[in-house]
Amino acid sequence: MKPLETYDGTIERTLFTQQEIADAIERLAHSIAADFAGQPLLLIGVLKGALYVTVDLVRALSTVAGGPSEIHVDYMAVSSYGNENRSSGEVRMLKDTMQNIAGRNVVIVEDIVDNGLTLDYLQGILQQREPKALKSCVLFDKPYNRRVDVHVDYIGLTAPDAFVVGYGLDYQEAYRNLPYLAQLHSWVFSEKTD
Ligand code: 5GP
Repeated sequence: MKPLETYDGTIERTLFTQQEIADAIERLAHSIAADFAGQPLLLIGVLKGALYVTVDLVRALSTVAGGPSEIHVDYMAVSSYGNENRSSGEVRMLKDTMQNIAGRNVVIVEDIVDNGLTLDYLQGILQQREPKALKSCVLFDKPYNRRVDVHVDYIGLTAPDAFVVGYGLDYQEAYRNLPYLAQLHSWVFSEKTD
């Protein structure tokens, strides 16, 4: 197996190290824990990208003293960029939550917010179900190309205005397993892979 660092020389640079990401998640966990101290909390991770941050956030939250009384986890899946590195602007639900969220404290956990349409769509759908509280947590924010003015309650790190991969984020389903956030060489996007 090839070492993670190489990916055939396609990675141009590291944007955030594994440690910087872990520190950001720790900060997010403390903010969320303070807001839901002593209350039950449901985290809804958005597949597939936010699988990684959701798991690490749940672990971090569980070690914060005086945090939520109970932590539950669920997942939704929506269509994102498909196999492209640009957003189509269309959001479709692929998988709904398995739990009822009415009357519950809910935090949506997203990997990255770019034009804002995905998070806006999720907030709209979940708000209709009348949760007690609905907040949004995003690990990486790209605030440069918003198409909707979506509100984000908890932001981990601000990423540059580029297509990024790693820590759950893919390009054509590769790179999710990188433990850090990276930018790819531009020639990667012009190569045909199929
Ligand atoms: P938005 O709807 O805010 O433009 O984008 C949200 C979704 O698009 C994210 O959940 C993610 O799946 C995808 N996305 C946005 N920016 C990036 C990026 O830089 N890299 C990758 N791999 N996916 C991205």
